[in-house]
Amino acid sequence: MTTIAFIGLGHMGNPMAANLVKAGHKVLGFDLVSENLDTARGNGVTIADNAKAAVAGADVVITMLPAGKQVLSVYEAVAKAARSGALFIDSSTIDVDSARKAHAIATENGLLSVDAPVSGGIGGAAAGTLTFMVGGSDGAFVKAEPILKPMAGRIVHCGEAGNGQAAKICNNMILGISMIGVSEAFTLAEKLGLSHKALFDVASTSSGQCWSLTTYCPVPGPVPSSPANNGYKPGFAAALMLKDLKLSQEAATSVGAATPLGAHAEALYAEFGAAGNEGSDFSGIINYLRDAKREG
Ligand code: NAD
Repeated sequence: MTTIAFIGLGHMGNPMAANLVKAGHKVLGFDLVSENLDTARGNGVTIADNAKAAVAGADVVITMLPAGKQVLSVYEAVAKAARSGALFIDSSTIDVDSARKAHAIATENGLLSVDAPVSGGIGGAAAGTLTFMVGGSDGAFVKAEPILKPMAGRIVHCGEAGNGQAAKICNNMILGISMIGVSEAFTLAEKLGLSHKALFDVASTSSGQCWSLTTYCPVPGPVPSSPANNGYKPGFAAALMLKDLKLSQEAATSVGAATPLGAHAEALYAEFGAAGNEGSDFSGIINYLRDAKREG
């Protein structure tokens, strides 16, 4: 049994913490929202009065927070209260620069750290099947792996500090672009008189095959579990896709990488969100594209 502080008990953090409790760990939790604390308490998490108090008694500290700003402010607030040699795991999706700053705060305070963002969403968090993309030293990774296991389907060591976040934003840039590509193909097919089923049957076993088509199909029917069959209820909200695409574009700018389709995907998701769809599943962009007028 390891004592684990879990800070950030929202949509993802709460089910992740619950899986750590189920695995036999003692989990000390903290969040700013009292309803989230009630849920955590119900899952067997011991609630701490504040983040510092949670961290002080822990061998491992996991953060699952909205963005880099919150992660850095929590790291700055709690690093000095942590046990010497404690392992810090940040599973939030944040910008690579902030992830590397968080590692630096940990190192300055004699702590081990990994960035370990996840893919798999709320369903994967509940089922304990998340993919963790881990950045950090070999020593920190070896210690993090058994802690992550009860929450994970797959754990990949992506390299040094910040490389987990780099993998996450590259993956999600592919996802945003591919969802738009699949959606465009279905809207074109509709206008050409080709049925959803016929396009799916062909593309799912041809070179157009991809996750956005075969697991998360943006039209109802071909993949019964996809959000399209459930009024585009998330799933993975369009606002989170836009967040990840923005992170990819900030990173691309900072290293001078040309990502023209990533930039276009960011612009389309920004328009989709601004049209009142931030809370829709990101695959709902097909409806926005279907209504769009062709230019020229
Ligand atoms: P969320 O908003 O539901 O949870 C974040 C929690 O952090 C909230 O409960 C908030 O009260 C808490 N918080 C904020 N500042 C805090 C502080 N200073 N101290 C303590 N608690 C604080 O968000 P989420 O959906 O759980 O996502 C968390 C992270 O995981 C984000 O970075 C997101 O991009 C990433 N992510 C989300 C999904 C998803 O499907 N929801 C999938 C993969 C990755």
